[in-house]
Amino acid sequence: MAKISLTVCDVDQDRSKSARSYHLTVEGRSYSADLCDEHAAPLFRLMSLSIPPRARKVDGRNRGIATKIRTMDEIEAEKRNRRDTRG
Ligand SMILES: [Zn+2]
Repeated sequence: MAKISLTVCDVDQDRSKSARSYHLTVEGRSYSADLCDEHAAPLFRLMSLSIPPRARKVDGRNRGIATKIRTMDEIEAEKRNRRDTRG
């Protein structure tokens, strides 16, 4: 028996649009959402405004809220890379 898995946007649940899973961590709290490109756009606008962590460092300390937005694909790839480097 074949199975078809479909990820739909949590906002509009439109099956005609592709959606990706996003994982967001803000001040140690984690959030996940499946979003289409349209509804993920605010996240990307936010990322375009954010200052890269290296630029934020003053006196060797990181200032501001640490916000990281990654897709589930990126998280899985990171996990695979970590496993590969450990041997
Ligand atoms: Zn959507």
